[in-house]
Amino acid sequence: MMNCPRPDRSPPEGQPSDHSTPYGWMDHALTTIHRADWHRQVRPLTGLPGPVVKAAGRSLLNFASNDYLGLAGHPATIAAAQAATARWGTGSTGSRLVTGERPLHRQLERVIARLKGTDDAIVFSSGYLANLGAIAALVGPRDLILGDRYNHASLLGGIRLSGATALTYDHCSMDHLAKLLAAHRDRHRRCLIVTDTVFSMDGDVCPLPELLDLADNWGAMVLVDEAHGTGVLGDRGAGAVDQLGCSGRSLLQMGTLSKALGSLGGYVAGSAAAIDFLRNRASTWIYTTGLSPADTAAALAAIAIVRRDPQRRQQLWRNVETVAAGLGAIAAKFSPQVRLLPSDSPILCLQVPTAAIVVKLGQTLEKSGFLVGAIRPPTVPTSRLRITVRADHDLDQCQELIDAIAIALADTLAAP
Ligand SMILES: *Cc1c(COP(=O)(O)O)cnc(C)c1O
Repeated sequence: MMNCPRPDRSPPEGQPSDHSTPYGWMDHALTTIHRADWHRQVRPLTGLPGPVVKAAGRSLLNFASNDYLGLAGHPATIAAAQAATARWGTGSTGSRLVTGERPLHRQLERVIARLKGTDDAIVFSSGYLANLGAIAALVGPRDLILGDRYNHASLLGGIRLSGATALTYDHCSMDHLAKLLAAHRDRHRRCLIVTDTVFSMDGDVCPLPELLDLADNWGAMVLVDEAHGTGVLGDRGAGAVDQLGCSGRSLLQMGTLSKALGSLGGYVAGSAAAIDFLRNRASTWIYTTGLSPADTAAALAAIAIVRRDPQRRQQLWRNVETVAAGLGAIAAKFSPQVRLLPSDSPILCLQVPTAAIVVKLGQTLEKSGFLVGAIRPPTVPTSRLRITVRADHDLDQCQELIDAIAIALADTLAAP
């Protein structure tokens, strides 16, 4: 048996001596977080995901999920997950390259490639891991990455992990991107432009055709994050790339299985060479356990619904139009304190003056039976209510939300 050596408590040369509370800084950090109204907590929902959810025994109308098509609680996805678990077990038991590969995995990758119009696809255990692994595999310290200021945190994580020189361009500004390319592209080996297609905390869509033109001119690769586009945008639900007519162009499309597809996991779709390369170099794919049979089968069932049931998407967009019109009227009434951010997606954001106000609004709405996102810094630069619309809301529920927000705003802004 080995003994664990006792730590040496004597202070290192030239340093103050109190090392007795190495975790004490956390209390100070938490105090700072509380003081800024930035503190967050989890809150369990019970029952199946759907337009109405239960929290602490109360029913709430759910305008905060990413389950745009209502597939996370759909009988067909649940049945597919159950059948796959019964047949293949609960876990895939290893890395895809060792013992974790099941026939379902390649089946899902082929179906994603078909939806996206690419040669092939690779499925990761989450969208976050897909971004970390893909970006860090594509570029390294000799390379340049250009990213939109409002990109998702997982893209930023991938950029940091890659060690590449990273520059940020103003939100959706192709002029700024062009200037940065002109000033910096030639000093680097490879160049990668990364952007959300649908921006997750704003709901607007990046100007992809112009971005791809710039990439062509400057010999840059492009990775787009379709987390909120897949299943939602385009005639077939293939995403923003398809909707904007960019399907045939050379780029890498990543996305998640955990939003409109209601499962868990992420993917990258692209050329055969790109996907084969990622299978050999993406460490977050190689050194992690393969997607579970249940998640894989649920995603397959969800994509089947996306393909054969366009009516779900039409219902979603009908609801988006209704809620957007209502929120537009509210923003006009409470202008300039309240602003409806531009959106081309089911993500609709009402910007309000402070974090304290958005927290209060979230609580008031919850008391009156509505679940909406109260999003604050540091997630976003300005506080906002983030409302996400689902296909399975009915028009009455949409109207109830609009009325409740108008009342909550009148109360909260009158007595801050
Ligand atoms: C949610 C999200 C991700 C991460 O996807 P997960 O599968 O939940 O890990 C990546 N990018 C964007 C834009 C997202 O909104």
